Amino acid sequence: MKLSIPFERVDWINTVFLLIISLLAVIAAPIYLWNHGMNGFLAGMFAFYCIATGMSITLGYHRLFSHLSFKAKWPVRLFTLVFGACAFENSALNWVSDHRRHHKHTDHDDDPYDISKGFFWAHIGWILFKVRPEPPLDNVQDLRKDPLVMWQHRWDKMIALVVGLILPAVLGYFFAGGWNGALGGFLIAGVLRVFCVQQCTFFINSLCHTIGRQPYSTRCSARDSFVMSLFTFGEGYHNYHHEFQHDYRNGVKPWNFDPTKWAIWVLSKIGMASDLRRVPDTKVLLAEMAEARRRADVELARLHASDHPWRDKAVESMNSLIERLSANYHDLEKAMADRVDLSRKALRNWSRETKEMLDHLSAIRRGRSVPA
Ligand SMILES: [Zn+2]
Ligand SMILES: [Zn+2]
Repeated sequence: MKLSIPFERVDWINTVFLLIISLLAVIAAPIYLWNHGMNGFLAGMFAFYCIATGMSITLGYHRLFSHLSFKAKWPVRLFTLVFGACAFENSALNWVSDHRRHHKHTDHDDDPYDISKGFFWAHIGWILFKVRPEPPLDNVQDLRKDPLVMWQHRWDKMIALVVGLILPAVLGYFFAGGWNGALGGFLIAGVLRVFCVQQCTFFINSLCHTIGRQPYSTRCSARDSFVMSLFTFGEGYHNYHHEFQHDYRNGVKPWNFDPTKWAIWVLSKIGMASDLRRVPDTKVLLAEMAEARRRADVELARLHASDHPWRDKAVESMNSLIERLSANYHDLEKAMADRVDLSRKALRNWSRETKEMLDHLSAIRRGRSVPA
């Protein structure tokens, strides 16, 4: 098979930079660790930079600047702008513009990281190849009013270089043993950390549009992935996020692993953040019920077309399941319209019943049982 690369469209600056970072991260950093080992200071600095830059992307670039899911005081904005730049993922203004287009045109041509162009394109291809003409920054007018955002937009490469790569080397020199420590600071807290944080962000655009559950909607390819949430400070709950993008939480359930939502909540308690936006539990549950009903309809159509020995019995069970789902959906919808103050217990019951019905649905799909 002939591999054709459109060289005329390659963004050479991005490509060479990502190539150097990747080679240093997978070859030079392990060689350094093999020869010099990891001391406590380097490990601490690596952890600090991973958390500071990773969360500046999730909490700052994404939930604060892209989706305005809460308001933040200037120290939070300044911190996330400085350390967000150190992730080498472009200025906040550019990042937000791309991301807002991703939400507006998900899975379509104007989506910068459109998964329908393939996993590689959504992951990194869109950074390596230029789309001509370059789309205008016409969807970030609100952010242009923030002087801190505009300052970072002007200096983001310089900030990234000085704070993201040179500073770890300087700190390594003074606190981790001279020139060896400087090299360690540069390679481990600088280069290896940039590689890890970037790849985790990229996987949200690729993996979370490919593998995972879709409990809230199948309108687009976005999926929930608990595993990805572990590596991205809670951004893995991407199906929920695409359905309710202005919610400051991505992991909406209390048990979901979402350190970014916890950090925003803590910031609000110490007066650094306010106006946290959250979707009411009733609306979230309604979306889950609608999705369960849609799945039941699909399964019913599949059963009708099958020649399974107990097809008629399964169709009958499926019809009663759909009836119950519809009744619950309409009851909840009516309660919301009438502004009835629903107790947590009532919502829990509806939620549990929806989950039980989904379990029955999977049992029928797998041909394991026919519910009574
Ligand atoms: Zn997405
Ligand atoms: Zn988003």
